[in-house]
Amino acid sequence: MAKPDKKIVMTDLYGQYLKIRSEVDGAIQEVIGSTAFIQGKQVASFAEHLKNFTGARYVIPCANGTDALQIALMALGLQPGDEVIVPAFTYVAAAEVIGLLRLVPVLADVDYNTFNLTAGSIERVLSPKTKAVIPVHLFGQSCQMEEILEVAQRHNLFVVEDNAQAIGAVYTFRDGRTQQAGTIGNIGTTSFFPSKNLGCYGDGGAMFTNSDELGPMLKLIASHGQEKKYYHKVIGCNSRLDTLQAAILDVKLKYLDEYAAHRYRAAQYYHQGLAGIGGLIIPAEAPWSTHVYHQYTLKILNGKRDQLKDFLAANGIPTMIYYPRAIQEQEAFAPIIRIGEPLENANRLVREVLSLPIDTEIDTETQDYIIGKIREFFGG
Ligand SMILES: *Cc1c(COP(=O)(O)O)cnc(C)c1O
Repeated sequence: MAKPDKKIVMTDLYGQYLKIRSEVDGAIQEVIGSTAFIQGKQVASFAEHLKNFTGARYVIPCANGTDALQIALMALGLQPGDEVIVPAFTYVAAAEVIGLLRLVPVLADVDYNTFNLTAGSIERVLSPKTKAVIPVHLFGQSCQMEEILEVAQRHNLFVVEDNAQAIGAVYTFRDGRTQQAGTIGNIGTTSFFPSKNLGCYGDGGAMFTNSDELGPMLKLIASHGQEKKYYHKVIGCNSRLDTLQAAILDVKLKYLDEYAAHRYRAAQYYHQGLAGIGGLIIPAEAPWSTHVYHQYTLKILNGKRDQLKDFLAANGIPTMIYYPRAIQEQEAFAPIIRIGEPLENANRLVREVLSLPIDTEIDTETQDYIIGKIREFFGG
């Protein structure tokens, strides 16, 4: 398989931009022309379109996905010392905001196949102090939300879905009802970091809820706790999606389904090409969720992960390790976490995971080359 002329990247944001260049440039120019850089009309317009897309009753844009998680927890009225369950294998943001708010992150293990938190784990790590759980829909597919909601209901827990990686994924309930990931729990959050499935050209984020109490509260907190300018009802923060980013997102949202379809097709192509290699496990697709393939993450067995990564790098193929350390291994978190159960899968996954290039631009020629090199590494 010949090496493609084009440099292989994890996410080709420039190639994606070129296809929608005139629309994006026009939207940016319009914002500059209006000089409404903060809370311009594009912010409300994008929020409205995202509301229609997700079906959430409230969409509250904010500055980034980490802020979205923090504001979500602030809105729930938790008290210092209250416990919040998070997966041990995930991006750090959820555990971080729990710590910032002087709450206690309780670590639960993830499922080895889907990389996601499960209802069983939540139930095993509970204590009387546990008030909330943050299921993270890792790599592009939803956690088993129906089972998680059942546990949450039994134990009076708030559910905050971290949907930074699975925007657009559709969850199917047992009765056939469907709902978008991120709109199922009490609050959902997302990130518009450039490389996310719906990414802007800087930082951005949003919160989702169907609750008439939480919707206005989230909005209040994101805006200095003020209902009316200079009248502050609660302690809040300054977390806004800026108008330029909203304008860009409003253009890109129209293509999100198309982007997800491209990622999905690319994933199926990898599945086929990589099937049957011993020592390598391709991603599993859960029956309850569509997969929007934010990442295409392999598990490389027998301690060969780093060797494979180096071999691919030497052949011009970038890969990433999401994530090289579990939360319990992070220096910052050691003093504040409670380890709820043995974290065997998390401890194993940090040594096995390897994410391949996947995005809205990848073509089969590039994938053939990547697949060929992986097969070569494993001896054909
Ligand atoms: C990206 C990400 C975040 C944080 O989003 P930012 O916009 O970078 O603050 C939170 N959780 C997960 C799972 C993420 O992937």
